[in-house]
Amino acid sequence: MDFWIKYKVCFAIFARYCKQYNLEMETIDQIRADFPALQRKVYGKQLIYFDNAATSQKPLSVLTMQEMMSGEVNANIHRAVHKLSAEATDFYEKGREAVRSFINAPSRENIIFTSGATASLNLVASSFVYKHLGKGDKVLISEAEHHSNIVSWQLACERVGASLAVLPVDDRGEISLDKLEQMLNKNVKIVAITHISNVLGVINPIKEVVTIAHAKGIPVVVDGAQGVVHCAVDVQDLDCDCYAFSGHKIYAPTGTGILYGKKNFLEDLPPYMGGGDMVDTVTFEKTTYAELPLKFEAGTPNFAAAACYAPALEYAAQLRLNTEVQENERKQVAYLKRELDMIDGVRIYGMPEDLNKKIPLFSITVEGVHPTDLAQLLDTMGIAVRSGLMCAEPLIRKYSDNGMLRASLAPYNTMEEAEKFITGVKKGISILK
Ligand code: PMP
Repeated sequence: MDFWIKYKVCFAIFARYCKQYNLEMETIDQIRADFPALQRKVYGKQLIYFDNAATSQKPLSVLTMQEMMSGEVNANIHRAVHKLSAEATDFYEKGREAVRSFINAPSRENIIFTSGATASLNLVASSFVYKHLGKGDKVLISEAEHHSNIVSWQLACERVGASLAVLPVDDRGEISLDKLEQMLNKNVKIVAITHISNVLGVINPIKEVVTIAHAKGIPVVVDGAQGVVHCAVDVQDLDCDCYAFSGHKIYAPTGTGILYGKKNFLEDLPPYMGGGDMVDTVTFEKTTYAELPLKFEAGTPNFAAAACYAPALEYAAQLRLNTEVQENERKQVAYLKRELDMIDGVRIYGMPEDLNKKIPLFSITVEGVHPTDLAQLLDTMGIAVRSGLMCAEPLIRKYSDNGMLRASLAPYNTMEEAEKFITGVKKGISILK
């Protein structure tokens, strides 16, 4: 690396470490300064970004790394002997190590880079079906799954004549472990379940689900797209066979995803895609495959973005140690529940008795008001929320044909923003009703 590049890399890393050290003590206003998107105004109003379950905003440390990877360190990984390629490979593998450590996976072999939670779940479903699903078999999912954990399994099932078994959620948005136990009969070959639904925002008891399923010899795949953002995930403690998530919801760039898998589970699965980097030897007669994790990483990966897991997860880890952030989140959950409950005609979906099981994500309907009309009015006030079927159509349609409105908060969102959201909802309803 020439001097200038070395300087920039060192500066980015140094800046990141200084920031990390401070992050534990920084106020939310100071944290917000790290996110360029949060400084924006829309329609002349200060942006209030409450669509974090769809994607998070990115801090400067991630943006710096991304720029550096796409600029100075741009060379394909794992292939060439030249210096630039070796540097890019090093950053890519450091990204993998950051993920391994963040979720406490035993080894780098357990961490597969994908393009997102959707790609991770499709990888498992597509490979699992080859060896383990047949006519009459069942894949058990919950009623609260995102389309990526429904359709991926439907596609797999259709190939062999298997089908889905669906574990219901109750009106509080919770699953019943007794019901799960009853449903796990000999036809069920795998459980694929969300850690936290992107509609309900309720933390599922994944460890208990795994214990129950494993007692019957059934593996468990967890959709952790929301779970990894809001819970301290230790995959060895959860004991799940796979855990899938997206980097872009936890400060990493778009086009990044992770599939964690237990070594024996992943080794048993055939490759998902064929191409460069996933092979050992290739002849026209037969190909042998690379060891984990490369066996599942065919083709040029998004190495520039994958390298950004290091700053992104450092950032997330430090935010978890910030007591103001933690207290703020609990206050926001209690405040939004109380205030939304008091608005005439509003119904909240996913409200466990124990508020500690609820993340700051609120999906609502308002009697007599279309959620998309309300979302559009909120947008004119500078408040970004999601509306519609939220890629969880079966669950949403159970309650509402018009979809729902969802506000999802992140550690950089303030109480003042939550108050403005409530004022905005009230104002919007008064205009629309
Ligand atoms: N599962 C859940 C629970 C999600 O919230 C999402 C994204 N909304 C996904 C899966 C899919 O994630 P991606 O689109 O990043 O692949």
